[in-house]
Amino acid sequence: MGGFAAYLKSWVTGIVSLLTGLKVSIVNFFRPKVTESYPENRKTLVMPEHFKGVLTMPHNENNEHKCTACGICQMNCPNGTIKITSQTIETEDGKKKKILDTYLYNLGQCTFCNLCVLTCPSNAIVFSKDYETAIFTRSKLIMKLNNEGSRLEEKKKSASGEA
Ligand code: SF4
Ligand code: SF4
Repeated sequence: MGGFAAYLKSWVTGIVSLLTGLKVSIVNFFRPKVTESYPENRKTLVMPEHFKGVLTMPHNENNEHKCTACGICQMNCPNGTIKITSQTIETEDGKKKKILDTYLYNLGQCTFCNLCVLTCPSNAIVFSKDYETAIFTRSKLIMKLNNEGSRLEEKKKSASGEA
């Protein structure tokens, strides 16, 4: 009789365990679906507001950017992802001025900490929402952010004529 009681107990325990599992499955079956069907959903996919894809340097319609080559982003980047080269030119009024030569960004090294964007005094760089950045050639992860032939955006003159 003791053997039968033990058998019965294990049988009941098994059924309870099965029902517990089934309850989880049934509850989830009726829950709204949250799974994204990627890549089929490419056209409707909206990345979250704070998503960081690739560091970019916006240029206006005149091929002008806002980077003054101050180097603050490069100094604040914790792992040397940004390499800036600049040159000093003489302006029409004889003043020396530093201008951006090359702004290199290594996507393969970036930790997306956003320190560069947050500390840039000119709001010259932003993160894009690009998410398909996987490639086979590592060297292509090093990107030049300033366009060929681009230059620093002219400051708009105020009504009083001040820059
Ligand atoms: S997000 Fe962080 S790691 Fe990436 S370039 Fe900017 S400062 Fe460097
Ligand atoms: S991106 Fe901003 S912080 Fe970096 S060098 Fe240009 S102006 Fe300075």
